[in-house]
Amino acid sequence: MQELKAKDPAHRLESNVRSYVRSFPFVAKTASGSTITSADGVEYIDFLAGAGALNYGHNNPAIQQALLEYVSGDGIAHSLDFATIAKDDFIETFDTVVLKPRGMDYRFQFCGPTGTNAVEAAIKIARKVTGNRDVFSFTQGFHGMTTGSLELTDNPYYKEGLPGFDQRVQGPLPFCSDESTLEQSISSIADILQRRAQSDTLPAAIIVEPIQGEGGINIAPMTWLRALDSLCKQFGVLLIIDDIQMGCGRTGDFFSFEKAGIDPDIITLSKSIGGYGLPMALVLLKPQHDVWKPGQHNGTFRGNNLAFVAATKALTQYWQDSDFADEIRAKAEHIEERLQGLASDHRALDLSYRGKGFVWGLESRREPAIAGMIQKMSFERGLIIETCGRGDQVLKFLAPLTSSLKEIDRGFEILTDVCEVLDGQFALDGTGARKAASA
Ligand code: PLP
Repeated sequence: MQELKAKDPAHRLESNVRSYVRSFPFVAKTASGSTITSADGVEYIDFLAGAGALNYGHNNPAIQQALLEYVSGDGIAHSLDFATIAKDDFIETFDTVVLKPRGMDYRFQFCGPTGTNAVEAAIKIARKVTGNRDVFSFTQGFHGMTTGSLELTDNPYYKEGLPGFDQRVQGPLPFCSDESTLEQSISSIADILQRRAQSDTLPAAIIVEPIQGEGGINIAPMTWLRALDSLCKQFGVLLIIDDIQMGCGRTGDFFSFEKAGIDPDIITLSKSIGGYGLPMALVLLKPQHDVWKPGQHNGTFRGNNLAFVAATKALTQYWQDSDFADEIRAKAEHIEERLQGLASDHRALDLSYRGKGFVWGLESRREPAIAGMIQKMSFERGLIIETCGRGDQVLKFLAPLTSSLKEIDRGFEILTDVCEVLDGQFALDGTGARKAASA
């Protein structure tokens, strides 16, 4: 990772824990749509979108207008969990626009406004409902940084130096991203549940991301999700879908699991649910699982009314009919063509890609470090794009869903330029990695 210049006083005071700023060492000033402008006036195309929190782009004009009107009318900003007009509007709109048309029946739980807090709440609900303690997660899974969700997050880097996190009673279950391993995966999960049932130690829940974002854009087949759902039902284990990164339209449907036709016990949402990058987290739970007593999972920031206003506007603006989802899918075809072009025009890099909607991963079969090289060289040319996967070996495309074809193409022009350079170096000899890393 690139170190920040020590002369930068603001960063000298900030903890070592800072991360994105190391890959993208610039000072952001303004932003609009899919573009961020730095304090020096340099424009960057944003293919990271707040790690999935900015599905509707930076400063989306319709949402911004709704917020300006709300703020200038002295609309209540912070309200604990009081009833407010903004919150009522959000609940009603989410129910009418998202849940009812999909035949979904859920209660809403607002919690502390980050994804990890929604996961913590989901863990507790599952424990209270079933009386069981364990929650099983998957290899490469990512569910957050607080104690409970960190236990479910697979990457050991986040657990380094933290006593106790190596004492899991159940290692992560194998994630399935390939139809050909589906039967094997389901039967191994069934065996584990069978054994646990015999020793009266069934888990409370299984938590899964239908597409693993941080874990490397690993896409679960819908048939596997259906089989997992059936297994959970068979054993009385709750199914938690963590749609924090892949929900809110990222995959082309509002929920990433829609095509599987499953009925999860609990769904966690955060990131783009707040519409404008405003913090908000939401747990959707089946009415029969609403076993909370008042205030048993509380939090000061459960009532971020600016987020409710932004979220309501995002839903009415984009999800009232199927036009936006159709647009996402149409642009996805264009993105796939551009990725196909990158792969076929740069044979020395041996690139493969996978994804759907507005989430794609690009990986080199030749050299895992290529993703990081593309990331770094793209930033130098004005494109913000991140890597993911345990070894940062996957370049992760996560542009705002509102990106125009022109903005997408501008990003891909930079990627093409970078791939040309790297391809040339790797084609010449096998030492391209070293040369490119120092480019
Ligand atoms: N779950 C998933 C699938 C995520 O991708 C993330 C964050 O990237 C989280 C949970 C944690 O969300 P937060 O960072 O808001 O706590």
